[in-house]
Amino acid sequence: MSRTVLVTGASKGIGRAIALGMADRGYDVAINDIASEKAGLDTLATEIQEKGQRALPVVADISNQEQVDAMFQKIFSAWETLDVLVNNAGILTVSLVENLPEEIWDRVFDVNAKGTFLVTKAVIPHMKERRSGRIIHIASIGGKHGGPGQAHYCSSKGAVIEFTRVLAMELGEYGITVNAVCPGIILTEMGRNNLGTQAEIDAWTQKTCLKRLGEPEDVVGSVAFFAGEDSAYITGQSLNVCGGIIFY
Ligand code: NAP
Repeated sequence: MSRTVLVTGASKGIGRAIALGMADRGYDVAINDIASEKAGLDTLATEIQEKGQRALPVVADISNQEQVDAMFQKIFSAWETLDVLVNNAGILTVSLVENLPEEIWDRVFDVNAKGTFLVTKAVIPHMKERRSGRIIHIASIGGKHGGPGQAHYCSSKGAVIEFTRVLAMELGEYGITVNAVCPGIILTEMGRNNLGTQAEIDAWTQKTCLKRLGEPEDVVGSVAFFAGEDSAYITGQSLNVCGGIIFY
């Protein structure tokens, strides 16, 4: 039986690349996104099945407790086990703090921080019972080194990085590892919207050691590593996948 993974926010961008990359590595993949992205999820499910793996599309807003509960009911009625959770879903808007509406701060925290909490909380009893599991958060280098206009986003990703450390302390004795991947600038819808002008793209490119921005596929290897046996003695860590923009 193949190992199983759930990837949230998987209809596009980094989540989609992770879902396909895990299928390539022999995982069956449950793929989540919000209702408006269902068509993308269904296309992705077909692509995963064409690779010979099981695919399970599950629509849910990860910031909503009832929808998260329904998502896991669907997953566990179809599959007996979930070996790996990849908390990838996230949102980004740009605004200086002095102009930032309260509801935008709340929405970004609802999805990026609370959503990660709700989905993780739901898998803990299952992984503890099996005394095995891998939890991987897609945070951001922004959670370590903020940028102007992104106080809400960077604060929410900082919360995810600290959440990773505390979870590692709470779950290690049950054979569960918890790690975060911190992408730099990745050329997805979110990444491109954030970059804006060609001048900004060029400036960010120059900030990388590798003199290129990332593609979604650049993030996959780190997730596969944290999901597999080679990382068995690594937990509570946050790994930058940023082409060398920051070093801590
Ligand atoms: P993306 O292309 O916008 O994909 C994210 C997906 O998550 C979208 O399909 C989005 O739907 C979905 N989503 C949003 N809210 C959700 C919710 N409440 N429940 C379930 N799904 C939801 O973004 P990406 O660039 O691939 O980013 C993936 C992750 O990497 C995010 O956590 C992001 O913060 C992180 N990251 C990205 C970069 C980058 O440069 N791209 C850098 C560092 C970290 P909608 O599009 O309809 O909102």
